[in-house]
Amino acid sequence: MTDLDPSSIIEDAGPVAPRDSPAQGKSCWHALDVADALVRLGSDRGGLTSMEATRRLAEHGRNELIERAGRGPLHMLWEQLTAVMVLILIGAAVLSLLLGKLAEAGAIGTIVVLFAVLGFVQEYRAERAIAALRRLAVPTVRVQRDGHVSEIVALDLVPGDLVLLEAGNVVPADLRLVESAGLRIQEAALTGESEPVDKRVEAISRANEIPLGDRMNMAYAGTQVTYGRGRGLVVATGMGTELGAIATLLQGVESSQTPLQQRLDEVGKQLALVGLAVAAIVVAMGALGGESLSDLVLTAISVAVAVIPEGLPAVVTFTLAIGAQRMLGRNALIRKLPAVETLGSVTVICSDKTGTLTQNRMTVLTLDVAGATHRLDQVDLGGASGMSPAAQLSLVAGVLCNDGAARVGDAGDLVTVGDPTETALLDAAHRAGIDIAGLREAVPRVAERPFDSERKRMSTVHAALGKDRQSALRSLPAGEPVVFVKGAVDGLMAHTAAVWDGEGAVALTEAWRSRVLAANDEMARRGMRVLGVAYRTLPDIVNVEAAEDDLTLVGLVGIIDPARPEVVAAIATCRAAGIRPIMITGDHPLTAAAIAAEIGISTDGGVLTGADLDRLSSEEFSRAVLETSVFARVSPEHKLRLVEALQGHQAVVAMTGDGVNDAPALKKADIGVAMGITGTDVSKEASDMVLRDDNFTTIVAAVEEGRVIYDNLRRFVKFAVAGNLGKILVMIGWPVPFLVAGGEIEHPVALLPLQLLWLNLMTDGLLGLSLGMEPAELGVMRRPPHAPRASIWAGGLARQALWVGGLIGVVALSLGLVFESAGRESWQTVMFTSLAFLQVFQAIGTRSTNQSLRSIGLGSNRLMIGVVLSVVALQLVAIYSPLNGFLDLVALSTVELGICVGVGVALLVVIETEKWRRRSKSNAAALPASGVGRRI
Ligand code: ATP
Repeated sequence: MTDLDPSSIIEDAGPVAPRDSPAQGKSCWHALDVADALVRLGSDRGGLTSMEATRRLAEHGRNELIERAGRGPLHMLWEQLTAVMVLILIGAAVLSLLLGKLAEAGAIGTIVVLFAVLGFVQEYRAERAIAALRRLAVPTVRVQRDGHVSEIVALDLVPGDLVLLEAGNVVPADLRLVESAGLRIQEAALTGESEPVDKRVEAISRANEIPLGDRMNMAYAGTQVTYGRGRGLVVATGMGTELGAIATLLQGVESSQTPLQQRLDEVGKQLALVGLAVAAIVVAMGALGGESLSDLVLTAISVAVAVIPEGLPAVVTFTLAIGAQRMLGRNALIRKLPAVETLGSVTVICSDKTGTLTQNRMTVLTLDVAGATHRLDQVDLGGASGMSPAAQLSLVAGVLCNDGAARVGDAGDLVTVGDPTETALLDAAHRAGIDIAGLREAVPRVAERPFDSERKRMSTVHAALGKDRQSALRSLPAGEPVVFVKGAVDGLMAHTAAVWDGEGAVALTEAWRSRVLAANDEMARRGMRVLGVAYRTLPDIVNVEAAEDDLTLVGLVGIIDPARPEVVAAIATCRAAGIRPIMITGDHPLTAAAIAAEIGISTDGGVLTGADLDRLSSEEFSRAVLETSVFARVSPEHKLRLVEALQGHQAVVAMTGDGVNDAPALKKADIGVAMGITGTDVSKEASDMVLRDDNFTTIVAAVEEGRVIYDNLRRFVKFAVAGNLGKILVMIGWPVPFLVAGGEIEHPVALLPLQLLWLNLMTDGLLGLSLGMEPAELGVMRRPPHAPRASIWAGGLARQALWVGGLIGVVALSLGLVFESAGRESWQTVMFTSLAFLQVFQAIGTRSTNQSLRSIGLGSNRLMIGVVLSVVALQLVAIYSPLNGFLDLVALSTVELGICVGVGVALLVVIETEKWRRRSKSNAAALPASGVGRRI
């Protein structure tokens, strides 16, 4: 390797080369000084102008990876055609063709095509829906443009943009770092190295060809910021990035098969086997009756076709995709399709407090300094001049030890970007008349130790204070650098040696310590988040690691973040639905308890802190999660342990998270829930679901949708199995009376192949599909969750399918036998038509499991109304149009038709009566309104 002069590299690197240029992304940006890189990209420390950014966007294109051709439509169609069930059908069509039965072969062929098209359309729509979700999952980034910080979607980044990085970000493009404050980046996605790499800014002028992992002053798209803060200059976007070069997808919304889908696939295969077995029986019985072999084979094929639930895969895909869309309509963005159904069986929701249960509208309410408490309501603020020096110093420290960005808008209001805790401090300072920009310029930051949720504090070091500094700083010694620290008071007190008493610093006596802790508790008890603000001067060193000791506490800042009013009802819904809400927060236990009590989370089991948890043995820990519902001052690693302990009790856990360190807990939880607004990219990538509004209520809404989906899939299975059972009974039962009587069978088979196929299309295909659109049944959130691995037949489903199917079979068969023995030519058409109407009314009866048809309202599933009307119309066409010749049917008299419709209506009445009976039984054994379901 040779040393290279950066200026010579620039020539061949072509930094702003067009995006498809092979040179882009391979350039030697690491070898350039920051200033050179800025010049080269036509940018400066104020960032690009919006106009220039728009121009570059047009030139370079969007910052996105072009998807490698996923499953194309042809691929999807091929998958449909090669599914087991379809293969059986194709086999049946070929066999019919060989037997010379052109009509049957054509009919089965039509069914194959119809179901393949139906399946394809549903798959395609599902895929499109997921693609749409994927587009919604695009992250936003903070960039410097037009001289100030603003938030834009990562897609709009262009070379030359200055991007702000902080812990939790996924690096949005390839960046030449221009600032690093303890910045650490995990680059496993690119280099395979799992340890985060410390980043710095200086040029590496050694060589051109050093490996990516050694380019300490670069940050590459797709890698994750695990610690610190920084700024980087975009040098390559989209496919021009190193990630683009290997073209893996970053922002995925995965679509894998759900466990239920797999189980239903199994059900489908089992039914296919049953179909074959029944076909064999039919052949055997037909042979006894003297039917010709080719007719028998054909009948056997049709029976098998009738039993196979061809509609199943399409209905499942359709129901899940519709479910994901419905969830999106309620602000829950599904990232992994299995989550749609797992949501239905959630038994515990572990939620952060800030922003999820509360509004994340932080406002500084009180300042406690020098032994006195000041209310900081807007009305009270009379400008900085009216405040004590200690109060002013608290606010000044809050501005300096702060990563939020602020500028004064046109209307004199403060426009802020950043963490709400920090912007609340900026707002308070602004309201007190402090010139934020001026202050930050006068007292620049030279080093820092970023906030992290383990230490629960941050510190910044500022250059030596000059003589002409702001009044609030005047009481600090001149000529020395000063460190400002802000963070959780309990932790801060361990590092505090002095306290400000109005005149200046005095030693922290026991009396002072108790006074400060009492003030902290008092604010926390009122539901406030409390930050302690402290400082120390540093005679010579600028070592931030050591700078957090020997602090002087200036004051406490009480920040109010009101609970979301709608959460109270959502928590009550959880309880009724057998779901246990748990609060897990980094805040003070008293703050946590106050908010928990306000919104209805149980504090009966007390509040446990992270420190308490650390002291527990694993058995005690495991017991604690059963009794305690509020956990405070926890670190992200405790979240992981809590999930594991809950799962140890067979709980199905939904867990929220927003920080970079929450990713392991989110992955471990059955449903990892990330925050759409405040969540870090890393947490979103680890999640199954993203809350677009950060709201706890949305999780509960998604759970409800999950239950509806599960119900609807079970409805379809119940409907299809019962219907198929009915047809099997008709086919097998038909010859039995003749065989028993020992007489000659005039008509050896009950229904002809084409008739069976027709019925199949009407029922499984059309009616079944519309069951997937059923809205929530009343009481869906007033029953305990279903066990995640519960059999699809659980909860009486098998029993119901059996008796309804049995009834359908017996009724249709009896009608046929009666008409046949009366010598009526229409016996077969009567049987065919009664089966059709029985299933139409069965579908209507299956719409709810417990509720009466009247209470769910006929119009609540419009698709179903349309489908029922179409099926009835098609049925009439089949009987009364010339099509009847093709299907071997005869036109029925009004009475006969009336009988067929009548038995259908009667079935509906029976189904409804059975529901009524079950309802009155469960009312008698009324469950208590609360505490339904299991403990966990
Ligand atoms: P929740 O889990 O309820 O969402 P959280 O995870 O947001 O809470 P953290 O952000 O980890 O909680 O905050 C924990 C504590 O750290 C707070 O109580 C506060 O004292 C302190 N803290 C929070 N934000 C900052 C900040 N920007 N600078 C300094 N200290 C902070």
